[in-house]
Amino acid sequence: MKKKSVIIVGSGLGGLFSGAILSENGFQVTIIENHYNVGGFASCFKRAKSRHEVGIHCLDGFVKDTVKFREFEKLGIFENVEFVRAPDFYKIKTSNGMISIPDNIEETESTLCEHYPLEKESIKKYCNILNNIQSEIEKSSSFENDPYQALKIPILTKYKNYSLGKYLEKNFQSNELKSILMANICFYHDNPKELNFLIFMYGNSFYFKNGCYFIKGSSQTLGDYLKSLIEKNNGKFLLGTRVVGLEYKESEIQSIQIQKRTNTETSKLSADCYIFNNSPYTVSDWIKNESLLEIKNKQRQEPSISMSTIFLEFDQAPKTFGLSGYMSYFMLSEIESKIKDINAFCFIDYSEIDSGLTGDNKYIAAILFKDDYINWFHKSKEEYLRIKEHTIEFVINFLDKQFPGIKKSCTLAEMATPLTIERYTLNTHGAIYGFSFKNRMFSAENFLKNNISNMYFASAWSRGAGFSFASLSGIETAREIIGEYENEFF
Ligand SMILES: Cc1cc2nc3c(=O)[nH]c(=O)nc-3n(C[C@H](O)[C@H](O)[C@H](O)COP(=O)(O)OP(=O)(O)OC[C@H]3O[C@@H](n4cnc5c(N)ncnc54)[C@H](O)[C@@H]3O)c2cc1C
Repeated sequence: MKKKSVIIVGSGLGGLFSGAILSENGFQVTIIENHYNVGGFASCFKRAKSRHEVGIHCLDGFVKDTVKFREFEKLGIFENVEFVRAPDFYKIKTSNGMISIPDNIEETESTLCEHYPLEKESIKKYCNILNNIQSEIEKSSSFENDPYQALKIPILTKYKNYSLGKYLEKNFQSNELKSILMANICFYHDNPKELNFLIFMYGNSFYFKNGCYFIKGSSQTLGDYLKSLIEKNNGKFLLGTRVVGLEYKESEIQSIQIQKRTNTETSKLSADCYIFNNSPYTVSDWIKNESLLEIKNKQRQEPSISMSTIFLEFDQAPKTFGLSGYMSYFMLSEIESKIKDINAFCFIDYSEIDSGLTGDNKYIAAILFKDDYINWFHKSKEEYLRIKEHTIEFVINFLDKQFPGIKKSCTLAEMATPLTIERYTLNTHGAIYGFSFKNRMFSAENFLKNNISNMYFASAWSRGAGFSFASLSGIETAREIIGEYENEFF
């Protein structure tokens, strides 16, 4: 089948990776992006001389000879974009002060055993799962009908129906240790009882094995590089332009309708095939026919969690006040968390690495916490602004109590909520990981099935979330279109 021109709706990682690979392979690529710069969540915004990262604070490292590594190499990303390694995976405040969790399984095991000697056996068992889960998953499909499956993939067999909460409850005594182990649950979901244990361990094993990285100068650097590559191959970007509908006939998309953000006139655009990097709920509204686009397990599949971010600038480095570490987690007590419905937050200090975010004598940081769209939806403008202001005050005061003086050093604090996320990326309910990880079993399936011959999806919604999976969604979709798609794990 001849498919030479492609329209991509959205320039998030899924859109940019599919566009870059297709344009390198001779396709005529047109990307339509509602925003005025590319990247979706993988972007930055500027304040004075500083840049603030929007949504890729920490990405898992690279393993040679994997699909992701090979495609990054082919696209020349390693020569043009710098990845800066964080000093450890994360730090977390405990009753004994800050504990560092290294990006290394052996060191994590000895750190935890040192602090919690009574739980040594359970810690070892946990680290053993981290060590082996990737290889079990990679070989699992070859044992599908094997009677000895349980012996060959014991971790997957034993824990396939475990939630993270169930595993931790069954295996650990100390509540503090449980909190340490699930500190970064917000990478996936918010409720340990609803998050599949294997999904959590598989995701985390990449950080523990390959390190935790930041893109120097912000993730915008990567987006801008991919854009330049697509343009070099004669690809086009229509920025500040929104897709508002589509037309299809006999199970084939005929055209999409676009509208400039500056006026209300619409026009049509056609191509041989179409890739949707935007919310499938929006696409589903355009299609209005469930037999053509099926959102798998629709009842169960709801949008993922969202987050709020407080973007910060300081005139002194946070470590001056004793707050050192790139990514530090703070758990709030029950009383504290009731005040603002925040039970934990993460402080990211870009001055701890060579982040390339500031050209001035400023120290850039961000506070992130899990948040819900409904906490903000339907609020009047006044109330929305008032709650935002109180939330900033509450979190900064919390930090100032533990690191006196830090509040005075803070020269900028701006907050983005799930509503801000929805407004800027048009992701339904400000979802940051596509579909929810709630009660989801481990699987590498594509969540979107459709019966339209020239329609493809590439985003956190289609194959998985975060930097790696959103990038892979673009890589795999491009390969599917090119006809080279092989079912490989990265
Ligand atoms: C606060 C925050 C922190 C995060 N931290 C991390 C992290 O540390 N590590 C990590 O790996 N992941 C993190 N993530 C998640 C990660 O950023 C996303 O999962 C990933 O970038 C999603 O990429 P995507 O391809 O799905 O596209 P998106 O980023 O969702 O982009 C979609 C694009 O489509 C455009 N669009 C939508 N509708 C239309 C339309 N109708 N017409 C034209 N254009 C349209 C949007 O403007 C947007 O540019 C974070 C996300 C957030 C918000």
